[in-house]
Amino acid sequence: MPTVPGASYGLPKAEGLYSPEYESDACGVGFVVNIEGKRSHKHRGACGCDNDSGDGAGVMTGIPHKLYRKIMSGQGVTLPDEGRYATGLMFIEKDERKDIEEEFTKMATQFELKVLGWRVVDVDETFCGEVARTLEPLILQVFVTGTEDKAEFLRQVYLLRKYSTHKIPEKGLRYYICGLSTETVVYKGQLNTSQLWGYFRDLSDPDFETHISLIHSRFSTNTFPSWERAHPQRYLAHNGEINTLRGNVNLMAAREGVMHSPAYGDRLKNLYPVVESGMSDSGCVDNVLEFLCMAGGRELPEAIMTMVPEAWQNDRTMTAEKKAYYRWSAFAMEPWDGPALLTFTDGRYIGAILDRNGLRPSRFYVTKDNHMYMSSEVGVTDCKSPDVIQKGRLAPGRMLLVDTQEKVFMKDELIKSHLANLRPVSQWLQETLSMSELRQHYSLGRNKRHSIDRMHMAHGSCLEEDRRLPMFGWTTEALNMLVLPMIRDKKEALGSMGNDAPLACLSLYNPLVFDYFKQLFAQVTNPPIDPFREKIVMSLACPVGPEANILEPSAEQCRRLWLEQPILSLSDCDMLKYTSYKGWKTKILDSVFLVSSGAVGMLKALNKLCEESEKAAEAGYQLLVLSDRTAGKQYAPISPLLAVGAVHHDLIKKKLRLKVGLIVESDAICPYLVFETIARLRQQHLLDPPLPDEEIFMNFRAACARGISKGAQIFEAVGLNRDVMDLCFTGSASRIGGVGFTHLAEETLRRHWLAYAEIECDSRVVMNPGNLHWRDGGEKHINDPMSVANLQDAGRTGNKDSYAKFTETALDAARHCTLRGQMDFRFSEKPLDLSEVEEAASIAHSTLAIAMNRIGAKSNTGEGGENADRYLNEDPINNKRSKIKQMAQGAKPGEGGELPGHKGKAEHIVISGHDGGTGASSWTGIKGAGLPWELGRDVVIAAMLGADEFGFSTAPLIVMGCTMMRKCHLNTCPARELMSRMGIRRFQDLVGRTDKLKFSPNPHNPKAKLLDFSAILKNALDGRPDTNIVGGSMSQDFQMENRLDYKVIEQARSVIEGKQKQVVINMTITNEDRTFAATLSNLISMKTVETGLPDKSILINLKGSGGQSFCAFLARGVHVTLEGDANDYVGKGLSGGEVVIFPPKDMPPAFRSEDNIIVGNVVLYGATSGKAFFRGQTAERWGNFADKCNPESVALESLELSEDVTFVRSFLQEFVDKTGSTIAQHILDNWATERACFVKVFPHEFRRALDEQTKEGAGSLAEAPVPTPLGDKPSPFGENHDPKKEEKDIETPENEYIEELINPIDDNDPNRKEAAIEEEEEGASSSDEERKVKADVNKETEKEAEPKVEPTIIDIEETIRDATMEQKKLDKLRGFVKYKRATNQYRDPAVRQKDWKEIYNHRAVMEGLRTQAARCMDCGVPFCQSDHGCPLGNIIPKWNDLVFRGNWQEALAQLLQTNNFPEFTGRVCPAPCEGACVLGINSPAVTIKNIENTIIDYAFEQGWIKPEVPKTRTGKKIAVVGSGPSGLAAAAQLNKAGHLVTVYERNDRVGGLLRYGIPTMKLSKQVVDRRVRLMEAEGIRFMTGVEVGKDKLGSNLIQDYDATCLAMGSTWPRDLPIPGRDLEGIHFAMSFLETWQKKQQGNNLEYLTLNAKDKDVIGAKSITSFEILPPPPPTRAASNPWPTFPRVFKMDYGHEEVELKYGRDPRIFNIGSKEFLDDGKGHVCGIKTHLVEWTKDATGRWEMQEVPGSEKVYKADMVLLAMGFLGPEKSILQEMSVKTDPRGNVNTDKNKYATSIPSVYAAGDCRRGQSLVVWAINEGRQAARQIDLDLMGKTSLAGPGGIVFQPE
Ligand code: SF4
Repeated sequence: MPTVPGASYGLPKAEGLYSPEYESDACGVGFVVNIEGKRSHKHRGACGCDNDSGDGAGVMTGIPHKLYRKIMSGQGVTLPDEGRYATGLMFIEKDERKDIEEEFTKMATQFELKVLGWRVVDVDETFCGEVARTLEPLILQVFVTGTEDKAEFLRQVYLLRKYSTHKIPEKGLRYYICGLSTETVVYKGQLNTSQLWGYFRDLSDPDFETHISLIHSRFSTNTFPSWERAHPQRYLAHNGEINTLRGNVNLMAAREGVMHSPAYGDRLKNLYPVVESGMSDSGCVDNVLEFLCMAGGRELPEAIMTMVPEAWQNDRTMTAEKKAYYRWSAFAMEPWDGPALLTFTDGRYIGAILDRNGLRPSRFYVTKDNHMYMSSEVGVTDCKSPDVIQKGRLAPGRMLLVDTQEKVFMKDELIKSHLANLRPVSQWLQETLSMSELRQHYSLGRNKRHSIDRMHMAHGSCLEEDRRLPMFGWTTEALNMLVLPMIRDKKEALGSMGNDAPLACLSLYNPLVFDYFKQLFAQVTNPPIDPFREKIVMSLACPVGPEANILEPSAEQCRRLWLEQPILSLSDCDMLKYTSYKGWKTKILDSVFLVSSGAVGMLKALNKLCEESEKAAEAGYQLLVLSDRTAGKQYAPISPLLAVGAVHHDLIKKKLRLKVGLIVESDAICPYLVFETIARLRQQHLLDPPLPDEEIFMNFRAACARGISKGAQIFEAVGLNRDVMDLCFTGSASRIGGVGFTHLAEETLRRHWLAYAEIECDSRVVMNPGNLHWRDGGEKHINDPMSVANLQDAGRTGNKDSYAKFTETALDAARHCTLRGQMDFRFSEKPLDLSEVEEAASIAHSTLAIAMNRIGAKSNTGEGGENADRYLNEDPINNKRSKIKQMAQGAKPGEGGELPGHKGKAEHIVISGHDGGTGASSWTGIKGAGLPWELGRDVVIAAMLGADEFGFSTAPLIVMGCTMMRKCHLNTCPARELMSRMGIRRFQDLVGRTDKLKFSPNPHNPKAKLLDFSAILKNALDGRPDTNIVGGSMSQDFQMENRLDYKVIEQARSVIEGKQKQVVINMTITNEDRTFAATLSNLISMKTVETGLPDKSILINLKGSGGQSFCAFLARGVHVTLEGDANDYVGKGLSGGEVVIFPPKDMPPAFRSEDNIIVGNVVLYGATSGKAFFRGQTAERWGNFADKCNPESVALESLELSEDVTFVRSFLQEFVDKTGSTIAQHILDNWATERACFVKVFPHEFRRALDEQTKEGAGSLAEAPVPTPLGDKPSPFGENHDPKKEEKDIETPENEYIEELINPIDDNDPNRKEAAIEEEEEGASSSDEERKVKADVNKETEKEAEPKVEPTIIDIEETIRDATMEQKKLDKLRGFVKYKRATNQYRDPAVRQKDWKEIYNHRAVMEGLRTQAARCMDCGVPFCQSDHGCPLGNIIPKWNDLVFRGNWQEALAQLLQTNNFPEFTGRVCPAPCEGACVLGINSPAVTIKNIENTIIDYAFEQGWIKPEVPKTRTGKKIAVVGSGPSGLAAAAQLNKAGHLVTVYERNDRVGGLLRYGIPTMKLSKQVVDRRVRLMEAEGIRFMTGVEVGKDKLGSNLIQDYDATCLAMGSTWPRDLPIPGRDLEGIHFAMSFLETWQKKQQGNNLEYLTLNAKDKDVIGAKSITSFEILPPPPPTRAASNPWPTFPRVFKMDYGHEEVELKYGRDPRIFNIGSKEFLDDGKGHVCGIKTHLVEWTKDATGRWEMQEVPGSEKVYKADMVLLAMGFLGPEKSILQEMSVKTDPRGNVNTDKNKYATSIPSVYAAGDCRRGQSLVVWAINEGRQAARQIDLDLMGKTSLAGPGGIVFQPE
């Protein structure tokens, strides 16, 4: 893990993304000790890149006095007695020896030491690898002596060691001293272990005698090896990493401000900094350990116990003394957490300790000759079995210690109980201040302690009024998807599919400072730590307040406040703020800045905060509370992260940090707004269940506890600049620069403006910019609906156009969201011809497993492994088998399946992403963990950045569309084209070519421009000039042929091939034989199609120590017996085989298998079947289960069921037979009593799954369809289905093209979400869709979903009131599977055709509403809102969910965010949202518009819709011309913004199309009147009967009003100019409709000319409707894929009624009109028609031809022309000189509404052409927003998707 900044010789300087600070170690460690301290002359490693240099190896031994005395006497130096001199090896440059000796000697004198002599250590360079040799130092050894006072002498030696390390490198000299000690010496270097012994000749000298030998071998998994970084350090060597390092190091620096030492006095400062610069993690631990031993008054075992405590807080089995010790020790120092195995020695003691996570292996043997052999694996020594008396392992947090002075080997209990009783710590702990003591003092009872005060009421009476929510960046998403689940379930909700939203550094939606951070992972941990299941080791308890001097153990250390966890309740926080108990005092510091001070004000306020903190710390305050409580209208909050970071680091720098405790009263630590908001939700009856205060607090606290990474500073910033990092996050990385304080302040101020806008319009609601789930108008997402739909189509149909569109949208999304989107290629001036670039098949690019295998690439199964049907697929064309079988994450050398341990190197570099992934994780995990992989717009960029292997997951899943992957091979290779343009022939030549990339930030994103990509684009060759970076150019020899598996396979081949029944193999095994039997098992699985071999086919008898992953994936039929022991991961992925391990039969008789370890950690990980018998103790996670298991995951049950009892007993017998276990025999002998000791471990999740399965099995039994043999299956399309016919149907021309002919569509208009859907309000309705669906659904289910009986409910409320009851019964999670779409939503046609009332069966709709809402999946990418879906971006999934929950008011609030008139759209819209619904891919879409309509109708009925008169008027006057949907929407929005709005309508009533263009059956005019009255009450003036351009000139409007909005619709009807058009009785349908509507509404009109009673009309005696186009297909045509609007044959309500009355559908398709026929009196009497045929021409365009001989005359007494509209009335436009486009519509810029005339705007059909009501509303809203913005400079009216803030 990262280290502390500073130079470290041998490591490259920080360059590009590399920094020595990120160096990690993963290692092998071990020691040998003679427990009696007797000396004698009595090894392993990985290689560096040159195949011969080691990554580092070393040994620490006792001082070989005999040898040194001999050598130094040869130089004329007589060494004093042992212990009277100190010695150490140092690495220096050959030509700097003189300078070093001088400097060192000078310093020695300074500390009253005398240099006795120097020697150049004798080395054999031939043992040094090529790379290591380039940096090989001169190794000098020094001997010093000093005062007789041993303790003072040791201090002098330590001072010299430390001081010289600080000071000599400052002079520019290479100087690294491996140690300076009277007891130990370290030999190490950039070597491997075998080189070590040859390189240092001293080590092979027979006079080199030592009682201890601590050995280390380093694997630098992702780091540079160096001489200096080799282990051991001065006191220790380790395996693993220290994940808490940065936090530990910072606190250690802070501690320097409170430490003092009587023994060192002023000299103490010479030791500072305790943690030296440039240290690796182990170096840092070593520095502190050394310091605690040398200056802290602690012996080595105690010092190590202080730094590496057990998980003591939650351990129910720990003694009180030990707990007390650990608590005291926790006051002195925070834990240094691994995962790590630390081995340590000071010459007297030698031991090992495993950190509390315990994820590193550590095993030991004790032999008869009193030696202990400890190592990270068994089998590394050649101890003979008869000599071994004990085999053990270290448990987490446990210590192993040998005291060579006392000649004893001590186990953990003994050591620690000794240390725990050294001091009266229990008594000292009495001094601790606890929260309960404080509460008692302030008489805070339990209820009061968690009470949520009423302070929030000052911020409004309901949630919307609390403006603090938007000010702090709260969103409804955060509230609903993060906070509420935490309160309800005590844990975070899960999300999936990765994070595809823009990184905070690219987001223009004002992200929080938290969002700029990404969590880092432990690099060498396998398996990963699981904080949920391993809760026992996680504790959040911490001491707060001033820390005492650590160097003098005393009660002083306990005088701090002990917090069991960091989340404070409101009352606890208040108590701490105002306490004076026991002299404690608290300073409250406001972390806010004045809004009026602007963006610069924030940094000033931060600096002031730091100053005030310093003063308070100096003034003796024990607690500082940083509070943003005062934030509001005047003050904006400083991000708590910035505030606490700045203060924390400032206090560290000033060495004041440990004088005070820091408490944050903000969104963190005391998250007051969370508690207050939840309380408010409860008060508004929106919290279900309505938990009491205490539970709210406790649940939230519990949820937080799962996600807190305490004090570790294991985060990296992505996109913050140096200033921010230096001030607030010192020591944390931010490698690509980015925004600074000004930007962060501006983002804060924008949030503040949204919260406190002077005129609140749409900003009143808590916004949701769509950070987690995609939302129209919100944050871009890589997987946005357009990309997904295009990829889906490309994947399903192989449509190249779709793929091209996908590429385009994906690139655009990457530009908005990712770092790779900010890169571009540097193309060559001399591009290559494409033919010169290697073939696509050679290029490692592809999509899925099939495609990848075709071209030889590899795909990855993911962690769950692979399904058998895929695994076994041998189909050479459609082979879906993934070449990589992934088992677990984490990088660990030698652990990767087939890689032998001694050759653990990266063969491939894989650049991993954060924006994909399919797995489920907590939302904050998805959002906050892992760095983006930017470091392939694609594969090409990734390769250029260094990747040579590629894995895909999310994109393929999208292609599969959750159904079946059919075709994914796309015959395009953009990589080749790019390569040719860059002048690169071979793909492997791309690898690492960062010089061919350039930083090219999105020009529309000001934040992107602030990034600095120089680090990313730094060429690896700059750091290591001569390194070969050509991908795949260096082959690595894994010596696979030497694997033991191949020898087994040779002997077993005839059995595997079925030629022989059985084979018995006998062999020996060592720990180097890793993953034994995996290759064998793979071969068996391939040969036997995964069934394995018959039992006992291959019997393998082994002796020795099994290497890691022994018997991994062992196949059925293979029985392995190992006489010996084994390491970690035994039986990983066990797949039917049998493993038996027992101790060697020749162990000494005293050896008891039950007390000794037989196998390592993580046994049987991922095992699926088979048997395993281990005689001996197994790894940690198996021992003493009852006390240690996590009851949250599993239940412990007694063994009662007779089948369980029989199973266990027979298994025990088998165990005895196979291992000879005496314990098992004893149990069997005493079975009657012993059986009671067995517990059955049952995972809760497994139980739940079983219960569900049982329930479902019972439920589905009755319905379960009888499976039909495949050949007998009926066609899903019915008996007479003819697939050819279907094809023909699909081939028929579609309306779309022809419609374009008639009514051209402007494809360039970005607002056109759906090419004008022909049916408009009179056309498509859900009833048609439903009719189709109805035929499909099971009748039984229909009964359930739709009432056949007449509705019995009285009103809407009746349905809604039993929300809770219904909700409880409904299953939202699987609603879309369980419930059918309701279909019976219209009144009976026989009834409805007799009246003029609305056609809807409102009551039936209401009754099944929640069932319908439960079908909505709340999609992460909700297509219902996409470009093909709702033009308004209605937040459909959210209000569906709210309706499901019965939260109607909130559903209304969500609905009104995007739609002013849901009562109109809910009735008349053809619902493109339903056409685009994700469910529509393979089942009926979710019911949307009925729900929308019910929400608003219910709201009116409840009286929730009231006139809202603007509080403030701007004084601006605005005229709106036209009162149709767009005019009304514009007027409503502009009025809301405080403008005075006058609407001009030429007709006699308000409403335009809504009034006279839509029949009352579809939209009751009372509904229109209701809205108009409301708008009038809100202050809008309606001027009816005034035709602008005629009654009032447009130019007058321009003069009289500040702005004019033209919204007069598209009213110019298309005519049919054929002979006879002038005859009487031929009318435009719209005129007919208008007059009838007028008549119905009471106008006194004579319509004799239109009266067609008893005549043949195209409405009375007979009705016929002509359609020139062919009928649409019954299902979607190939060219009409989901999610486009479905152009399928529908039966609308009108057709239905005609059919009912006249017995036939009135429509005739494929018919053209030639002539109107005259009755001789100038009146129409019929139409001459002909049939038409549609064919495609050579270019693929549709052509219409008359069918010869098809002429026919239809009688008609009246003809209505309904052929659409051509555009707006021209007169007003001409009068106002407004520019029009070629189609005659008002011309505006793209996405703008301003016309060519200043202050004149246009909206709706007059601008975009004939369209839908929903589009018109959207236009009106957006035009209003632009008008407001232009007039006022700012607007709080909502933009697209209802989102107020819209980045420009
Ligand atoms: S309505 Fe359909 S697309 Fe929209 S969220 Fe629900 S299921 Fe998804």
